[in-house]
Amino acid sequence: MLLRHTKKEIKPRKALTVNPAKTCQPIGAMYAALGIHNCLPHSHGSQGCCAYHRSTLTRHYREPVMAATSSFTEGSSVFGGQANLIQAIDNIFTTYDPDIIAVHTTCLSETIGDDVNQIKDKALKDGKVPEGKTVIHASTPSYVGSHVTGFSNMTKAMAMQFAQATGTSNGRFNIIPGYVEPSDMTEIKRITGMMGINPIVFPDTSNVLNGPQTGKYKMFPPGGVSKEALISTADSMGTIALGETASADAARALDARWKVPCQVQDLPIGLSATDRFIDALRIAAGVPVPDSITLERGQLLDVITDMHQYLYHKKVALAGDPDHLIPLVEFLLDIDMLPVHIVTGTPGKAFERKIAAMTAHLPCKVNVRAAGDLFLLHQWIKNDPVDLLIANTYGKYMARDEDIPFVRYGFPILDRVGHSYFSSVCYTGGIRLLEKILDVLLDRMDRDAPEEEFELVM
Ligand code: SF4
Repeated sequence: MLLRHTKKEIKPRKALTVNPAKTCQPIGAMYAALGIHNCLPHSHGSQGCCAYHRSTLTRHYREPVMAATSSFTEGSSVFGGQANLIQAIDNIFTTYDPDIIAVHTTCLSETIGDDVNQIKDKALKDGKVPEGKTVIHASTPSYVGSHVTGFSNMTKAMAMQFAQATGTSNGRFNIIPGYVEPSDMTEIKRITGMMGINPIVFPDTSNVLNGPQTGKYKMFPPGGVSKEALISTADSMGTIALGETASADAARALDARWKVPCQVQDLPIGLSATDRFIDALRIAAGVPVPDSITLERGQLLDVITDMHQYLYHKKVALAGDPDHLIPLVEFLLDIDMLPVHIVTGTPGKAFERKIAAMTAHLPCKVNVRAAGDLFLLHQWIKNDPVDLLIANTYGKYMARDEDIPFVRYGFPILDRVGHSYFSSVCYTGGIRLLEKILDVLLDRMDRDAPEEEFELVM
């Protein structure tokens, strides 16, 4: 198949990426912007970039993703895109009437040096932004970082460009959920609701990118954090940011500018990270943990105990985003699996150090690489085969060539459904993750079992 000619021999590469384990910054910025109510994302660059970003999000979520573009021509590429962006702002407010336009840049507009802040000011002075409407912007050059960096930059822009303190506490907490599925954002709100907490979750793509089929098209679906809530984030009692890479910058910006104390937690994926999240909520809000949450925790523990024999010391290779991989690796360690090859396309040596420290006690060698690619992961697997691969859809080529049980996880997932509707965070999400892992492992056992060992009950 496609990757059959990947060689076992690993040669150091510096200036070449083969099969990247990431996508580009504006995709994350566009996804974050869709998590604001009545907001139209705008791509300041060429039509091709915008088409790629929209189609990737549309394929992953299977929902129409709306976004506008500055439609750079050769002229704007040389002389700058100011005229295009001002015209676009005018057209968008006149034609589509969003409350907010969230502009992100692209490689092209960054390379020619467009100052979007100055262009935005000019659009305001020229009367192109109607009363009560807002334009925010984030710088998202895709030759640095990844889609996670783009998400972080746009989320920080929300915090910096909306938040305004009134001096009176709103009695609420901010939760920045990170680059997770709409279903995960719903789950975070369900859990906080069970604890009697009513947080401001931003961005919030639930009910935007996993909405129902009603037979009627809505350009701006009912979900998304409201502008009023974003303004009020400066009056909150604190912020819990889930994920260092995607969420911490926005939380720290609120802390620095408006003295809203922040704490950065891992995404609540698996048992231990969810325990820490629940504990952080409990302490921050001064509320007890309800029995209903303890019950869900016990159910996750029960599945782990029941099926531990099928998980014990199975080797796992993983590719994904740093904020996902850190708690995911912790979860695999909790259930006595062996995460041995771990790659993220997002740069950052802190990720490598963290994974190395988490896996230092394992009885086997562990490979970890930030700013790595799927080609390297495939080579590692060829040298040290694994029992399970966890990655986004692009992992399917490796899984097929090496005949490895495969769980799709992360972004993008282009060939399966369910991720938008069924969460993989908190305790019930942990059960779903375990179910997916066990399904592929037990299917493999069934497939390979000799007739006399083909069991009905596992
Ligand atoms: S040119 Fe840059 S911003 Fe546009 S699609 Fe390619 S990587 Fe993304």
